Amino acid sequence: MTALTFLAVHAHPDDEASSTGGLFRLLHEQGVRTVLVTCTNGECGDDLEGAKPDADHHDGDVVAAIRKVELENAVEILGISRLERLGYRDSGMMGWPQNDDPESFWATPVDVAAERLAALLMEERPQVVMTYNEIGFYGHPDHIQANRITLRALELIDYEPTLYYNAIPDSVMAIYRARWEEEDRLKREEDEKNGIVRAPEPEPETPINMGTPDDDISAAIVVAGVNGYKFDALAAHASQIADSFWMKMGRETFMSTMVTEWFVRVTNPQGLEGCVSDIFAGYR
Ligand SMILES: [Zn+2]
Repeated sequence: MTALTFLAVHAHPDDEASSTGGLFRLLHEQGVRTVLVTCTNGECGDDLEGAKPDADHHDGDVVAAIRKVELENAVEILGISRLERLGYRDSGMMGWPQNDDPESFWATPVDVAAERLAALLMEERPQVVMTYNEIGFYGHPDHIQANRITLRALELIDYEPTLYYNAIPDSVMAIYRARWEEEDRLKREEDEKNGIVRAPEPEPETPINMGTPDDDISAAIVVAGVNGYKFDALAAHASQIADSFWMKMGRETFMSTMVTEWFVRVTNPQGLEGCVSDIFAGYR
């Protein structure tokens, strides 16, 4: 039997933990080889004081150096066999000036990055590949570009792996949304008490639907039992997510509630039907 290999194409340090942390660790424990491709260095993340990239004293290179170490720690925790950093600069959110930096991932021609990814795919020959959907799950340029280079790379190689996009079912997204709204409300109340007035977050021009109809989910992977590692990997990215709703819920609640990771099948060389519980269904 050929050895099983899984490869995920992620945009920033921390995305590997948030959308596939459980899957990575589960596959590690199953003896599957796992490869993580991280496309950007994450220069547009918060710095250690929480400053955003538009702050004068924010230094993207310093942020990237911190995030590199955090990523390596997360890789260790998740038992990832190989980390490949493509080293592009973080493009920031849509419309930010960083989009136009010629070294940004967004400004890099799809073919240029796709050829590098294709070479890696040919070397590793993963049976299963994961990235984000065409809207990059939530509209971030680097996530959209991860989708584009992955689709292009699959055209350049000499075999067809099974491709999955990560997803959150609509029913689960509704629960998350309620939690985020509650967090916002509490924050507003606290601000009010402290006399802080914040400008409301601008609404996106076209609201992005991050949910996927429950019926369209084609892999539901139970990661209970390994999601403590996922929590620890998220925690390893402290500079970015110390304040996130995952960290706020705490390790115990996280372990008892964040027990599934969902995916949508995009290519299907094994002719699978319906929703599978094993990302390597059809290969073992
Ligand atoms: Zn990201």
